[in-house]
Amino acid sequence: MSHTAELIAVGTELLLGNIANTDAQTLSKELSALGINVFYHTVVGDNPERLRRAVEIARSRADLIITTGGLGPTCDDLTKNVLAECFGKKLVYNEEAAQRMEAYFRRLHPDTGAMTENNYQQAYLPEGCVPFQNDWGTAPGCGFVSDGVRVVMLPGPPSECGPMFRARAIPFLAECTDGVILNRSLRVFGMGESAVEYQLRDRMNAMQNPTLAPYAKEGEVELRITAKAEDEDSAQAMIAPVEAELRELLGELIYGADVDSLEQVCLGLLKEKDLTLASAESCTGGLIAKRMTDLPGSSAAFRGGVVSYCNEVKNQALGVSQALLDQYGAVSPQVAQAMAEGARKLMGSALALSSTGVAGPDSDERGNPVGLVYVALAWNGGVHVRELHCAGSRSRIRTVAASHAFDLLRRKLTGLSL
Ligand code: ATP
Repeated sequence: MSHTAELIAVGTELLLGNIANTDAQTLSKELSALGINVFYHTVVGDNPERLRRAVEIARSRADLIITTGGLGPTCDDLTKNVLAECFGKKLVYNEEAAQRMEAYFRRLHPDTGAMTENNYQQAYLPEGCVPFQNDWGTAPGCGFVSDGVRVVMLPGPPSECGPMFRARAIPFLAECTDGVILNRSLRVFGMGESAVEYQLRDRMNAMQNPTLAPYAKEGEVELRITAKAEDEDSAQAMIAPVEAELRELLGELIYGADVDSLEQVCLGLLKEKDLTLASAESCTGGLIAKRMTDLPGSSAAFRGGVVSYCNEVKNQALGVSQALLDQYGAVSPQVAQAMAEGARKLMGSALALSSTGVAGPDSDERGNPVGLVYVALAWNGGVHVRELHCAGSRSRIRTVAASHAFDLLRRKLTGLSL
């Protein structure tokens, strides 16, 4: 495995400050989880001469060079040409890449279907490379080894760069070293990143293979165990005891392994148990419903949601009594409970989630502080309200509140205490 990497981001818009180099952040995290040191980040504009110089410098001080961007069909997309030239390789036509792009265009534009001529340029890749077919966009990437330097080229859009790295570049890097690299991702909700890190710090620092790395994501932590071994079975065998140890330590705070989100786990459980869900949202403004309906197949379980932002809607649509609203105010456990029960009744679902709180930036008219949120879950014969004190921006408060709502749901559906 390579030990020193340099990332070269290609794009004038990065230099102009129009966009941030988030690909470098994503890749650096991924590489550090693999135990690969990243010593330099370089950003260079869409200029062949300057890119050539950046590549020459990089190959003199790193044995893994990863480029992002500049793989597209327009004339300022020059990464492949320059890299191929620097390493003395010709560009050759890759039939599979062309066919995949044609299929992608047909899916995207079923009316016209045809791919424009300049797009075929993307199907040219350096001779002898391992093509990285792009299932997340059009431009394929690739990897090759030349003069002891490993070169990986990835597309610029973050929605393509990260997935391509994980699905294509990691196996390529393992291939270069006659081994496999396997990841296991444990998702934790209910404990902050610093608390998780504090508990695991010594353990993490002492680990080399497998490695253990935490990633914080708006109120959640992902713990990634990465093992490098001769074959898959050996890598699995290295991961298993670390996973068991983490499960012992964190118990029910771990809501899933190799899953994308809390809501994905919830949807799986709802389907498994043949139950339906509805939502009534105030401070999350529809985020619970959005996160649920972002998931393909959610219509099998999610019946609908009401964004009841003002008291009249809470009262008229959800049946929250005016007396309750007057007595306790909209941001109260009593109203959260009545909203969830109202949504369940209105939409005829087995379960319903609700949220009401102060997302900020100012406290509400009753003096409730920013970050005070109540989320509730109603089911046949019961309801539970959770009080939250969320920190951070308006957007973070809403995200964390929605996650807590899903956490209530997954706990209920797995028989854990609420
Ligand atoms: P494609 O042709 O599929 O768009 P590409 O590899 O040619 O991919 P670019 O044209 O360089 O990529 O960039 C496309 C978009 O990707 C940019 O407009 C920008 O939004 C995003 N992007 C590019 N590089 C980065 C980066 N380093 N960090 C974050 N976003 C990036």
